Amino acid sequence: MFAVRAIAAGVRIIEYSGEQITHAEGERRYPTQADGDEEAEHTYLLQLDDDRVIDANVGGNDARFINHSCAPNCEPMPALDRMWIVSVRRIQPGEELGYDYAIELDEPHTNARKRRFPCRCGARGCRGTLLKPKHAPHHPLVRAARRRWSLS
Ligand SMILES: [Zn+2]
Repeated sequence: MFAVRAIAAGVRIIEYSGEQITHAEGERRYPTQADGDEEAEHTYLLQLDDDRVIDANVGGNDARFINHSCAPNCEPMPALDRMWIVSVRRIQPGEELGYDYAIELDEPHTNARKRRFPCRCGARGCRGTLLKPKHAPHHPLVRAARRRWSLS
């Protein structure tokens, strides 16, 4: 998904819509692969909070087409019962939008599990996996936006 006009930093670009389901239901719909096997692509699950994930295969919008990037210009921001994709820097027309999928498994992120979720984003400093790095706090602009919208 590409920007068709300039987008300022700290802007809610699009809601990540879809059906809200439990993690258990997400696992039932899209079972985890065994270590060594790649996960099926295009499951479009995004974690909303500790209890819920959003399944964009059901009622999802264009936000589900935003790719992962290890050098992201957007970040998902949970806000009450919804998820927004927020720009974390100024984005030029024609730039591809990308956020860090930062997938978190219940199990430890071993190298075998990282290989189930390979990243080929091509960014300098690509970490090679879509799994969440150990310490990944919200971007300062996203924290500021949440304060501005009185969400935290
Ligand atoms: Zn990458």
